[in-house]
Amino acid sequence: MDWKKHKAIDRIIFGKEYPEVHKWIDEFFPKYQDWEHWKERHHLAAIEEKYPDQTSEEFLSAILHVICDWVAHEREFELPKDKEETLEILSYYNLLTRSEDDES
Ligand SMILES: [Zn+2]
Repeated sequence: MDWKKHKAIDRIIFGKEYPEVHKWIDEFFPKYQDWEHWKERHHLAAIEEKYPDQTSEEFLSAILHVICDWVAHEREFELPKDKEETLEILSYYNLLTRSEDDES
């Protein structure tokens, strides 16, 4: 899902945009092919580390980012807890184009 839509959701829910949140979550996008970059920050563990205050709007905006990405892409509600679970779910939906072993 593009940043324009993520920011539109921010405006509806919070009354303001959090572009820095979406930039941070998607920062690994150019590094990997396809959806593999989701393993870096599209999960609860990374978001909790970055935004420890779980009542902050930044934390909630990040959670919404991940859920909306999954709903937009697979029409499924997913919020992986960590990197390993992200890889498992990506694999389940056939969204990994290469295995971990291929990375060098
Ligand atoms: Zn994203």
